[in-house]
Amino acid sequence: MDKIICLGKNYADHAAEMKEKAPEKPVLFLKPQSSFIEIKDNANIALPWDRGTIHHECEVVFKLYKKNIIGIGLGLDLTLRDVQKKLKENGHPWEISKVFKNSAIVTPIRGTRDFDNWQETEFTLKVNGEIRQQSSLSKAIMKADEIIHHANEYFPICDGDLIFTGTPAGVGPLKPNDVIELSFGPIHNTFRVI
Ligand code: ZN
Repeated sequence: MDKIICLGKNYADHAAEMKEKAPEKPVLFLKPQSSFIEIKDNANIALPWDRGTIHHECEVVFKLYKKNIIGIGLGLDLTLRDVQKKLKENGHPWEISKVFKNSAIVTPIRGTRDFDNWQETEFTLKVNGEIRQQSSLSKAIMKADEIIHHANEYFPICDGDLIFTGTPAGVGPLKPNDVIELSFGPIHNTFRVI
């Protein structure tokens, strides 16, 4: 992996909850490899609670090889929402709200053949047993091939790179000791943020 490419505002319902218009094409930004952590079941994942609100964004994740999808996972794109809001208000880049250690949490990657139809399959984020986010990539503005084409226009895509494909509505704050469950077809992982 060289990097994690992320789409912003790829679901109209999330853009609406942020009181923003969905752009003509989704926003692109990067997370470095150092922000990545693969979930081990029942792991405790440490987050920087002293920097304001941390929001979860649950997203389908692609793993790429030669610009093709070779695997699918479910991820959390974690965001320092207060930090991001202030930077946006001042018209500054908001990269630093997205790149902290463990801000790119991803389930173990599964093959596309492990799903019946991964683009239609619902993914779910539960926090302490309560559903916070539920959608499928079929509801996104930009879908699989278009997403790769869009990213490839701006970034050299390297083998092993990941793409976070954007979050649907339902983003919200996490707090220490929350138990997180990520489910997507054959994927079911549980962990705790501390
Ligand atoms: Zn996101």
